[in-house]
Amino acid sequence: MIRFDHVVKKFGDHVVLDELDFTVDRGEKVTLIGPSGSGKTTILRLLMTLEKVTAGDILVAGESLNQKERSLREVRKRIGMVFQQFNLFPNMDVLGNITEAPIHVLGQSRDEAQTRARELLDMVGLTGRENAHPSQLSGGQQQRVAIARCLAMNPQVMLLDEVTSALDPELVDDVLSVLRDIAVSTDITMLIVTHEMRFAREVSDRVLMFDAGRIAESGPPEQLFGDPRSDRTREFLRAVL
Ligand code: ADP
Repeated sequence: MIRFDHVVKKFGDHVVLDELDFTVDRGEKVTLIGPSGSGKTTILRLLMTLEKVTAGDILVAGESLNQKERSLREVRKRIGMVFQQFNLFPNMDVLGNITEAPIHVLGQSRDEAQTRARELLDMVGLTGRENAHPSQLSGGQQQRVAIARCLAMNPQVMLLDEVTSALDPELVDDVLSVLRDIAVSTDITMLIVTHEMRFAREVSDRVLMFDAGRIAESGPPEQLFGDPRSDRTREFLRAVL
């Protein structure tokens, strides 16, 4: 579903990703862990085409992201992202937030989009909050709306960038539990940047440990957390666990 092929990303002279190669299978749930500044968010931003590679290529479902802006529209529809800061439209209610893109980008009727939005709100535990505005919701509720909004676009790939980092500790579990349900019940390919090691261990098929723009180690969670092979992974886990 996703292929990074010798990807280099530089900001000025600073090499952020250094000849990076990896693939993610359709339906696979992969978490990216590693120290701050190791390039994890940059990987998600490249996939969202918010940044361009300096060299190399990224393929999503076989389509290169090194294309003209016009041709990227179709690839973009396959990929949804949930951000640390929710990024909901503050002037729209919950239903408006979820139905905006399905109506205007996918061309769904208002009825169809609203029916689907209600199903998704049920899935994220927010039945009955259709008409609330983001400012009336807790951070955890806002993040669950953002997850429903992402799913409303029927993405093949879902990118999650530290989606619980901005939340008060008591709100984290509700959000993680919704994501756990999505991970087990859908065949959406998920790429997850997280500092929640327990969550990474539970949901991922594979964990990639990043260090300075390279993959220091990759493996199934039981192996990577239980019996890490690289010194960098051991040091990192010692510091965060
Ligand atoms: P991580 O998500 O692992 O914390 P990032 O991908 O956010 O790492 O950042 C990797 C490196 O790239 C950091 O050193 C960061 O300062 C740098 N960086 C990220 N975005 C930019 C940018 N737009 N301009 C300059 N440097 C950037």
